[in-house]
Amino acid sequence: MADHRTEITLPDSLRGMDDLALDMRLIASHRADRVWSRVNPELWAASRNPWAALKSIGQAQLEELGSDDEFVTQVRALIEDRRRRNSDPYWFPRSEASKTLNLTAYFSMEFGLSEALPIYAGGLGVLAGDHMKSSTDLGAPVVGVGLLYQQGYFRQALDSQGNQRELYPFSDPSEIPVQRLRGKDGAWIRIPLDFPGRTVHLRAWEVNVGRLSLYLLDSNDPANEPSDRGITAHLYEADPQVRWEQEMALGFGGWRLLREIGLDPDVCHLNEGHAAFAVLERARWIARDQNVPFAVALTIARAGTVFTTHTPVAAAFDRFDPGYVASYLSPFAAEMRVSIGEILGLGRMHPKDDSEPFNMAYLAIRGASRINGVSRLHGEVSRELFADLFPRCPIEEVPVGHVTNGVHVPSWDTPAADELWTDAELRHQWLGRPTPIGERVDKLPASELWRMRNRNRERFVLWARRRLARQATIAGADADHIDEAQRVFDPDVLTLGFARRFTEYKRIGLLLHDPGRFARILTNLERPVQIAVAGKAHPADTFGKAMIQRWYEFSQRPELRSHVAFISDYDLLLAEQLVGGIDVWVNTPRRPWEASGTSGMKVLVNGGLNLSELDGWWAEAHTSQVGWAIGDGQEHDDAAEWDAEEANNLYALLENEIVPMFYARDERGIPGDWIKRVRESMATLTPRFSSERMVRQYVEELYAPSAVAYRIRLADHCRVGIDIQRWREMIANYWGDVSFGALHIKATAAGTDFRVLVSLGAIGPDAVQVQLYAAAWEHGGTERIPMERGDEVIRGTFSYHAHVEGPRPPDAYTPRVVPYHPNASVPLEAVEVCWYAH
Ligand SMILES: *Cc1c(COP(=O)(O)O)cnc(C)c1O
Repeated sequence: MADHRTEITLPDSLRGMDDLALDMRLIASHRADRVWSRVNPELWAASRNPWAALKSIGQAQLEELGSDDEFVTQVRALIEDRRRRNSDPYWFPRSEASKTLNLTAYFSMEFGLSEALPIYAGGLGVLAGDHMKSSTDLGAPVVGVGLLYQQGYFRQALDSQGNQRELYPFSDPSEIPVQRLRGKDGAWIRIPLDFPGRTVHLRAWEVNVGRLSLYLLDSNDPANEPSDRGITAHLYEADPQVRWEQEMALGFGGWRLLREIGLDPDVCHLNEGHAAFAVLERARWIARDQNVPFAVALTIARAGTVFTTHTPVAAAFDRFDPGYVASYLSPFAAEMRVSIGEILGLGRMHPKDDSEPFNMAYLAIRGASRINGVSRLHGEVSRELFADLFPRCPIEEVPVGHVTNGVHVPSWDTPAADELWTDAELRHQWLGRPTPIGERVDKLPASELWRMRNRNRERFVLWARRRLARQATIAGADADHIDEAQRVFDPDVLTLGFARRFTEYKRIGLLLHDPGRFARILTNLERPVQIAVAGKAHPADTFGKAMIQRWYEFSQRPELRSHVAFISDYDLLLAEQLVGGIDVWVNTPRRPWEASGTSGMKVLVNGGLNLSELDGWWAEAHTSQVGWAIGDGQEHDDAAEWDAEEANNLYALLENEIVPMFYARDERGIPGDWIKRVRESMATLTPRFSSERMVRQYVEELYAPSAVAYRIRLADHCRVGIDIQRWREMIANYWGDVSFGALHIKATAAGTDFRVLVSLGAIGPDAVQVQLYAAAWEHGGTERIPMERGDEVIRGTFSYHAHVEGPRPPDAYTPRVVPYHPNASVPLEAVEVCWYAH
């Protein structure tokens, strides 16, 4: 009798092949696709999941593959290539940062690494996935921490009327590229969490990304109450209590898991506020290991925490009923010997205001020493958003900087683009060995660039036809419609791409503002245009769903059927095809709601151009040489009127510039002006908006200094950490003592002398700095001139003076007292400022 539990084993010639099937970087690069399609063609084609393909076949078939020389050669080459890439030091080990940074833990609610691991919804997840991939390319020491959602975000289908249907297929963890994590003795690792009246156990999983690991947790442990087993079933669960429990699992569970497996990162990177509980758990470990009070432990943890905020609107922060804090965090507060009110205060603008909800972004800010937005514009917007937490700071001193997002170029390039960049000896650009890129791209002949564009477009059109035919079949379309789907689009026609989450601020209806005019642009006989549209609407978003239907109906107009297609189920696989094939990527968000946006960056390497609102990354990338912009770089309140204006602007650009330029061909059939832009966009923007640049920037500007600051606070039995916390408490308790006396301003031959009396009371002069502050003006930036301390005129009152030269009138300068500690972040850790009142 056959044994149905037989374990298969890889033949010797294929040893190590299972590692290939688990490496998300390799999976996303598609280098091994040929191998997987040999293993199980049917399952591979349908799932793009190599692990499932490999596990599905039997011993006999494996032996057969193992004795096929060509197959074995391919597999061995992939294994060797992977080994080499994982051991090549690339950039990090040779960088300055490697001297100070040991390990960063990157916490994120979602990770978009490949469609084979469906634990992402959109931009935030794709960014996290690209962050991991570039970290592994660069050799930067990062571990990811996230949740394993067994039903992920929903999958989208459309019915024959264009109604969105939401599907939640179940991913069996044994069939996706994840591995159960085991402890030293081989036992499963399970992470206990205290929930009200019970302990919830989290299962732990490991995902391989090149040389790095991503750790995932889920609650579907058989020992849990049935009601707890589904906590981590869905990403972006609508029920706030489940959301809260997920965020506890991510933050508390995630940090606990790292410690459990022997990792003690010096930097914790919170990718959005969802993960902010990690700071509390980290503080708990520090308090325990170092035997210091919670407040000191938090001050130490803070130095090693980086918080990246992703939203431009306060309404999008996760805010929870304060009742949850009391019921879920009481055991934590008791263990840390602090009141629940103190924990609550960390998530509130006004810590003592009991009507305020518990805000995860505020908790992240209270727990971080470095905070950034995700584009230059978003940095500015975030300073406004968080300004009330720093009420006495001028806006430019609100401590939020920016690191503009980027994309993992090797994951988004098409085979044709890959060949072109490789021929130009630029492929290693993305692998940590930057070469001057502009010159090389300048040398590429226009004919080569145009050939790549044509290959890319054709590849996409052929793929879209197959996909649309299948989509029509599933929607129950008749034979004519299915046949029509197989003839959509034309490989030679100017192709626009428009794919995003269908949500109000993306203004997904802008292109349809005047459907007649847009239809005329598309169906122009000499210069036709086609557009591929995709996107999911959140299940609760009726507006978004209605917009999907509008687009679907538009695409079904008889005269438009070959010009417009709504492709369902926007995910990484579809995104990859789209960003490879389109000529122009269209993006129409309502400024400043697009914090960064990354989809437009994905087209750069493939020679696609951007036509976008001046928002997010495009506000810093756009010039007339690289693409097109709509909007005036301002925000507008009169939404409807302004939308009409921008829609007209958009149509006019298409009619007068974009379409004519694409069809203006020379004698070889090449659109010269178009290719000029393609060249410029590829050469100047691709490296700037790559996640390689982004990860380097995080490592050098945020992780490495955080690691240093963290270790300084921790060293020598937490001497500096204790000192900073004492200083913070002194500032908080006695700031009321600080006041100004008389100010004397005297013009001298060489400039102006300022002299002022300052009473500091119980706060010693070493704990503050007295400055002359002058805001930026038309001739220069902000000035902060330190004033020198003179005599103590009476006890606790000092004379300060400064001499200022330069063009500014004396009344531009205002004396102020700010808290000062050589190792602290001000104003993050001490928000007080005392201004001289003129
Ligand atoms: C890149 C990407 C996004 C992010 O797109 P933006 O609209 O630029 O925020 C969302 N979903 C998928 C599937 C992506 O690949």
